[in-house]
Amino acid sequence: MEQRNPEEKIMCPYNSAHYILRTRMNTHLVKCKKNYPDTKLVECEFNVLHKIPEPELAYHHENCPSRKKLEVTVYQEEGEDTNKFPIKSEAVSTEESWDDVRIELC
Ligand SMILES: [Zn+2]
Ligand SMILES: [Zn+2]
Repeated sequence: MEQRNPEEKIMCPYNSAHYILRTRMNTHLVKCKKNYPDTKLVECEFNVLHKIPEPELAYHHENCPSRKKLEVTVYQEEGEDTNKFPIKSEAVSTEESWDDVRIELC
């Protein structure tokens, strides 16, 4: 999992001269976008209900709540698989092969 440094400064998508703390970027974007009233709105890749000003799209994709839900689901499924699979398959195959041998001998 990616650890984000809250002190990290990232570039404002509207003006490359603006470097803003990640934690302040939402607030900054609200103010900054008022300087660019003609910005075209585009749909978020993760949720078509999100209409995002085009310069903000990459920033939004990084922070989109719909994307976070997707990532959490995938991560949990992978974690369960890697934990369960080796133990389960080993135990099952050992038991079955011993049963088969006994049945054949009788
Ligand atoms: Zn800005
Ligand atoms: Zn979104």
